[in-house]
Amino acid sequence: MNLILLGPPGSGKGTQGRKLAERLGIPQISTGDILREAVREGTPLGMKAKAYMDQGKLVPDEIVIGIIRERLEAKDTKKGAIFDGFPRTVPQAEALDRIMEELGRKIDAVIDIEVSDEEVLRRLTGRRTCRDCGAMYHVVFNPPKKEGLCDVCGGELYQRDDDKEETIKNRLRVYREQTEPLETYYEQKGILRRVKGEASIEEVEKEILEFLGIEGRDA
Ligand code: AMP
Repeated sequence: MNLILLGPPGSGKGTQGRKLAERLGIPQISTGDILREAVREGTPLGMKAKAYMDQGKLVPDEIVIGIIRERLEAKDTKKGAIFDGFPRTVPQAEALDRIMEELGRKIDAVIDIEVSDEEVLRRLTGRRTCRDCGAMYHVVFNPPKKEGLCDVCGGELYQRDDDKEETIKNRLRVYREQTEPLETYYEQKGILRRVKGEASIEEVEKEILEFLGIEGRDA
């Protein structure tokens, strides 16, 4: 199963992607995570990407397409993958179609998680992320059991640089202008499914699983 999670920053793509990847036994491919790792390690890729990310802008298409092409050559993606945060522009979606075709694979479904701008701001200004395993929390809506520490691995929780109000507003603008047109792109292919993302994590998960025909297993 190859699945794309579409939706604005803070819509729950990362959270739902982790759950789905675990349940389906396929990797979650997050271009944001890959880029943040490169920034942390100070690689040439990271150095190029950092300025864009800090401003809430998109990293150029050719860079992220290259990342995806390389990632899809790894064996663990043969059975499928959950794409989280990619594609984000029409040229990225077209490139993904070409790469998948070359590999004899196809995108089975695109889940569009809908959330309003106001809710995105509320969620992201309170979001905390684990430095070690990437698990996500919210200081009010989904706090960790011990303040500042990850429930899953005990790692330190931090606020992403781009989860600051001004940058969030930029990321939202970029999403509405450059990524939202992908809804039409996938709608025309007949594989888009819209999900209301302002429900609880469990409810959103249940709706996605029902749509994928894997409901009922302790969702
Ligand atoms: P995310 O973790 O998905 O919110 O991504 C964080 C940042 O990484 C974005 O604001 C972009 O600067 C960059 N980024 C991640 N994925 C992409 C992509 N598919 N295309 C361009 N830039 C991306």
